[in-house]
Amino acid sequence: MNTVPATASVVVIGAGPAGMTAGIALADAGVDVVLLDQLAEGANTSRAAVVHARTLEVLDEFGVAGELTERGLIVDQFDLNDGARRLATVGFDGLPTRFPYALLISQATTEEVLLARLRKAGGTVLRPYTVSVVKGDETGVTIEFTDAAGDPGSIRADYVIGADGMHSVVREQAGIGFTGASYPESFALADVRMDWPDPRTEVSLHLAPQGFMLVAPLPDEQDDRFRIVATIDEAPEYPDLAFMQAIIDDRHPGGRVREVLWSSRFRVHHRLADHYRAGRILLAGDAAHVHSPAGGQGMNTGIQDGALLGQLLARVLHGEPDILLDQYEAIRRPIAQGVVALTDRMTRMATLRPRPARALRNAVIRIALSFPGMRRAMAFRLAELTAR
Ligand SMILES: Cc1cc2nc3c(=O)[nH]c(=O)nc-3n(C[C@H](O)[C@H](O)[C@H](O)COP(=O)(O)OP(=O)(O)OC[C@H]3O[C@@H](n4cnc5c(N)ncnc54)[C@H](O)[C@@H]3O)c2cc1C
Repeated sequence: MNTVPATASVVVIGAGPAGMTAGIALADAGVDVVLLDQLAEGANTSRAAVVHARTLEVLDEFGVAGELTERGLIVDQFDLNDGARRLATVGFDGLPTRFPYALLISQATTEEVLLARLRKAGGTVLRPYTVSVVKGDETGVTIEFTDAAGDPGSIRADYVIGADGMHSVVREQAGIGFTGASYPESFALADVRMDWPDPRTEVSLHLAPQGFMLVAPLPDEQDDRFRIVATIDEAPEYPDLAFMQAIIDDRHPGGRVREVLWSSRFRVHHRLADHYRAGRILLAGDAAHVHSPAGGQGMNTGIQDGALLGQLLARVLHGEPDILLDQYEAIRRPIAQGVVALTDRMTRMATLRPRPARALRNAVIRIALSFPGMRRAMAFRLAELTAR
């Protein structure tokens, strides 16, 4: 446990991908930045599994896109199926970017790379400190926290970034609403070793009357590791091998699960912060937006938030007018709004049950995505290149 200083120019609360990216941008610009996180060490669970092209472009500015690409698995195709029938294939190759692919990589690895880069820039993460109070005034922000022993402390900052995830204390303390709702289905998620018929350069979404199933290859020396995400009315807390095998048998027979490496059940919400800024307090990442995992956009949007916010804040701290910070919400909130809307449409379409509605959906998808321009637009949107 490191000691928290009495003051810093910027305190970032939460050292997930969004907070660390903001920390890198600030530290690179020579800003005195401190990151506080309540966990004793970074989470090592899998969570987000894909880094999209726009995020790689942003991270390339910090010089880490190359290392991520080396450690990840390149996927250039997204397949959409209903049962055994292929509805459409969307290719990422040919996208106008230096990174014309989706990079499959575990969130733990992405966070490891970001943390190393943050340290290289001179930034540090102080742990474990749980923030409970964030009070802004005209000249700065006071943050109160407790350490591992439960002893209280405080730090004063010019600005605070709340990158403390979906249940953000910073958002709550700033009195910013988080408008939206939850999906009725639960999601079963498992990282497995399995025999799978499709090439490991493809991610596939399988639509079925029981719900959808997404299968994505994960980087691994044995080349047999996959992420499975499926909607289900009521999933067990830790889906086991038999449960995941039954989902595959129902929705796309042909795969054989040999081992469940990690599994979880979660409910998904779609919510957007009413504002990204309250005076000297700003929000980034899941603290500002949460949505369905369809399309794997969550962490990507958060990293891009962090990069822009860190850069704008550094310019303000180097003398530009504070009003510059209003650009952050003006640019990033509509992007998150678009991601929430897109993933909501994808989730609702993928979870349709009545047979006539499914038949109509399939026909619309097949016809729409038979046009190369529509496939390209879909790939562009999934890669978040619209956020440029
Ligand atoms: C099971 C699961 C599966 C997922 N799958 C996907 C996926 O496939 N694709 C995708 O894009 N996204 C996925 N996500 C979401 C993705 O993990 C998040 O979008 C991403 O982690 C958001 O990053 P963040 O930096 O905003 O917040 P987080 O990663 O949530 O980090 C917030 C940090 O703040 C710290 N913190 C919280 N409160 C306090 C406090 N009071 N004081 C101090 N520190 C605090 C936490 O310890 C944490 O380290 C998944 C999430 C889960 C849980």
